[in-house]
Amino acid sequence: MSGIQYQEDSDLLKLVRFSSQDGAIWLAENRMVLMHAAALASLRKELINAIGPAQARRILTRMGYASGLRDAELAKQVRGERSVNDAFSTGPQLHMLEGTVVVKPVRLEMDVESGHFDGEFLWINAVEADAHLRECGTAEEPVCWMQIGYASGYTSAFMGRFILFKEVECSATGKTDHCRIVGKPVEEWPDAHEYTPYYEPDSIVGRMLELRDQVDALRSSIEPPDTVANLIGNSPGFRHAYSLVSRAAGTNVTVLLLGETGVGKERFARALHQLSARSDKPFVAVNCAALPDELVESELFGVEKGAYTGASVSRMGKFERADGGTLFLDEIGELPLAAQAKLLRVLQEGELERLGDDHVRKVNVRLVTATNADLQTAVREGRFRADLYYRLNVYPVVIPPLRERLCDVPQLVESMLERFCALHGKRLLGCTDRAMRELRRYDWPGNVRELENLIERGVILAPQHGRIEAEHLFVGTMPSEAEGERIGDSGELCASVDRPDDSLCQQLLGAGLSLDEVEEMLIQYAVAQAGGNLASAARTLGMTRPQLSYRLKKRLGEAADRERA
Ligand SMILES: [Zn+2]
Repeated sequence: MSGIQYQEDSDLLKLVRFSSQDGAIWLAENRMVLMHAAALASLRKELINAIGPAQARRILTRMGYASGLRDAELAKQVRGERSVNDAFSTGPQLHMLEGTVVVKPVRLEMDVESGHFDGEFLWINAVEADAHLRECGTAEEPVCWMQIGYASGYTSAFMGRFILFKEVECSATGKTDHCRIVGKPVEEWPDAHEYTPYYEPDSIVGRMLELRDQVDALRSSIEPPDTVANLIGNSPGFRHAYSLVSRAAGTNVTVLLLGETGVGKERFARALHQLSARSDKPFVAVNCAALPDELVESELFGVEKGAYTGASVSRMGKFERADGGTLFLDEIGELPLAAQAKLLRVLQEGELERLGDDHVRKVNVRLVTATNADLQTAVREGRFRADLYYRLNVYPVVIPPLRERLCDVPQLVESMLERFCALHGKRLLGCTDRAMRELRRYDWPGNVRELENLIERGVILAPQHGRIEAEHLFVGTMPSEAEGERIGDSGELCASVDRPDDSLCQQLLGAGLSLDEVEEMLIQYAVAQAGGNLASAARTLGMTRPQLSYRLKKRLGEAADRERA
């Protein structure tokens, strides 16, 4: 396969959307930035001065490489169905669209299957060569580092093997008016070792990351794994709740966890247990709302054989099961009054009797309760015992709702992704920028549990080796994409693609069409599109079916009149 012919790029132009009210520019689902080339030039110069040209080159190469990888993903998405050459040419076209450089193909031989790649391109008007000339003067050697990183990253992702591009001529040297790049599989370059270090992460940074991993591993071997894995967050509200819980862990105090449904109260209770001296003893969790009233007492306090019809064997209650450890009672406000009285006795005396038994048993249990209801109101209305309330409310901990700690969302998402990918056998690259933005601006009435459900759905819906897109998360409920501005086919910014733009109006006026004729054209087009189905045509025109048939009849009548005349 050789040669390359650029396709019409209107499909790519449509991927760019300017959404100034959000302060965002989008390329499909990737957030982009419109940056001053002059600022890029000074950033480059400062990097070179601060850390030396070799390190600066490495950072810029890797930065370009990362964008190249992203654009390769996009190319496969938007033109993956076309021929290999058409799909591949997306990269150079995106590089041009992104304002980096004009790419002129000289030679291209590629075969994804056998891994063969041999490409040569000319670069004209390179932003990086320009930047270098502007801030540093002429260069001795080629300096389009970010761009060469992009070419290598894009092509490597496309070919599924490391394709190393070299810049063999550069306009920043002042010797030519263009740059020239050549790409081949890394194994085919005899001097590859002189270039590959620029693609590798910094050894110092690498070593620091390695040390951090070791510290993390050591830390998690000291701390119980569940505590670390399940309680995630760095927001002040979350940290505060966590520190209250960890301070309670060293004591035997009864803890009351308060917070909306889905904030993770059971996880806090587990963490409390794991941080306490009872961690090697059982942790037992009970949701009081899930127990039928007539079973609450036998479930909590146990039952002796023959206590009531159906009690054919003696059974331990949750209190006895949790002996020495922690008992977590969720939705404590739902506990019936009779059970409340028994619970109070266990708390006061540390002893209980099974149902249908007069033998008193000692239990040693740390009680953690939780509620999303207002217990004080329940007390006032006589649904909850006041003495029990005061007994439980010794050490209240409020767990903030997710919408008050949206900055924790990315971290939570990361850990959920790991878990659900393993569960569903998926390998994903993460969320798109837009998906993450939607996650961070959502209101989360169902809190962390709702986030978990959405991420699991996203993991299932996202394509293997792809990214989770906003549509995978908020199926059918996404806000319209029509908002914001896009670039038209000739590159100009239009208010919105859904609104007829100036050029359409100009065409209509230019064709000398009257308002009536335009209306007729629209109606006929809508009817034809709907295959003659008037109801559906009326919907697309934003009118009722009777309104549409009235207009059609009127037009037929007028046409008949014209013919008679
Ligand atoms: Zn160059």
